[in-house]
Amino acid sequence: MADPKGFLAAPRQTPSRRPVDVRIMDWKEVYSEFSPVELERQAGRCMDCGIPFCHSGCPLGNLIPEWNDLVHSGDWRAAAERLHATNNFPEFTGRLCPAPCESACVLGISAEPVTIKQVEVEIVDRAWAEGWVPPRRPSPEAVSAGRPVAVIGSGPAGLAAAQQLTRAGHAVTVFERADAPGGLLRYGIPEFKMEKRHLDRRLVQMLAEGTEFRCGVTAGTDVTAAQLRAEYAAVVLACGATVPRQLDVPGAELDGIHQAMEYLPMSNRAVAAGLRAQEQAAEPAITARGRNVVIIGGGDTGADCLGTAIRQEAASITQLEILPRPPEHRPAGQPWPTHPAIFRVSSAHEEGGERVYAVSTQRFLGDDAGRVRALELVEVELTGGAFQPRPGTQRELRSDLVLLAMGFSGAEPGPLARDLGVDFDGRGNVARDASFASSVPGVFVAGDMGRGQSLIVWAIAEGRSAAAGVDAYLRGETSLPTAIAPTAAPLR
Ligand SMILES: Cc1cc2nc3c(=O)[nH]c(=O)nc-3n(C[C@H](O)[C@H](O)[C@H](O)COP(=O)(O)OP(=O)(O)OC[C@H]3O[C@@H](n4cnc5c(N)ncnc54)[C@H](O)[C@@H]3O)c2cc1C
Ligand code: SF4
Repeated sequence: MADPKGFLAAPRQTPSRRPVDVRIMDWKEVYSEFSPVELERQAGRCMDCGIPFCHSGCPLGNLIPEWNDLVHSGDWRAAAERLHATNNFPEFTGRLCPAPCESACVLGISAEPVTIKQVEVEIVDRAWAEGWVPPRRPSPEAVSAGRPVAVIGSGPAGLAAAQQLTRAGHAVTVFERADAPGGLLRYGIPEFKMEKRHLDRRLVQMLAEGTEFRCGVTAGTDVTAAQLRAEYAAVVLACGATVPRQLDVPGAELDGIHQAMEYLPMSNRAVAAGLRAQEQAAEPAITARGRNVVIIGGGDTGADCLGTAIRQEAASITQLEILPRPPEHRPAGQPWPTHPAIFRVSSAHEEGGERVYAVSTQRFLGDDAGRVRALELVEVELTGGAFQPRPGTQRELRSDLVLLAMGFSGAEPGPLARDLGVDFDGRGNVARDASFASSVPGVFVAGDMGRGQSLIVWAIAEGRSAAAGVDAYLRGETSLPTAIAPTAAPLR
């Protein structure tokens, strides 16, 4: 146990965010540095529970009390090894995960939980700074027994599967249709949530280990399903859940209405180009600059649009959510150790914009040039399992840029899935069995493509587990760990 009285002596501390008026002038991560001394004190709050419920909140099975103890005793190098034992990319989860482990922490029953996520990110950042994250190349024996494997998609699921399989000795090629690897880590999530240098550094490690990347290649067309089957002993599909939910109301075809995943990648590309050229980011084709922006969807994707629009100097920003405002504290129906839906203030919400709850968009109104100028909304209430409009509450909201952030309905049923002949399940995801194998022998599926829209931590857990399924299929046995079953779900 890190410190028997740690949780009594030290209150929970998290890093402060940089002042709003400073951070909205740049795209850098929003958090200030955290003192290593304070971090060791925070790790000392862990009670090393007999049954560490934090484990049940984390699909990766992260060995949380072990690394808390090691950090508290100052053995950061051993902590980094224990961290990497279950997580290929702690620098992603340490920055981006909503931390269901903290919601499940036993300390949270009567006090503030251990700041697990901060301990995680500080361990991995120190490990990189100290040179403790070298490439882990497979042994020549493992390579000689390895087989060629294609991984389609380079989001966290594809990257985790590729790294596990490469380290097990297989000759892995990652196909990515975008111009650079990373999936939503690169072109969905903005720089202010995770600077892309963290992703690029990990990709350098993967290249040195032997993973090959072919970017700008769409599997299914540029390389056909038949070619993939002929050239590779196994194929892992990790193409994400990219089909966005549409808002089917009058006026939805007007100019100035875009999906979040049209808007965010353009901004991320402009920011990345600006960083490369060491100058101000150029204006992307879809920009919020000077516009009255309405974001439809109150989730994380909407918050990413909000933070981006603030940095682009929008005239006004309103985020609409159909659900009522969540409670401030854990409601009785979502007891510990579940991850509750409570009112959270993300860094973007702290920076500006207005949140409007319990409203539904009825139609968009355009100007003479065919561009959106306003939307008409109505207040709603949930009765009988459906949202019913409240009579007399219709109103217009000025908007000349509308961003749709209402989530994703499933995997693309494009040429790749069609020509491989994989089955889909009833929820629009590629179906798989207990070993992450699709209905086609030798074709596996991992991440949002099989699970549906989820989180990075689940995508990494899926990639690791699918890699074990592939290795067992190719060799008849495997020593790779399986983090989760395909049917595993968050605590509810
Ligand atoms: C805007 C946004 C913000 C988010 N923020 C967070 C967050 O803060 N924290 C969190 O935990 N989760 C977040 N999520 C969710 C998280 O990003 C996803 O759950 C996760 O990235 C899924 O990983 P994946 O590898 O399954 O798919 P993806 O990351 O979607 O990667 C799929 C990749 O496959 C490629 N691809 C698709 N088809 C083909 C093809 N035919 N050929 C070649 N390549 C192909 C795509 O180009 C893409 O690069 C966010 C999601 C969005 C949209
Ligand atoms: S549940 Fe909380 S206090 Fe208990 S072992 Fe996990 S992090 Fe430590």
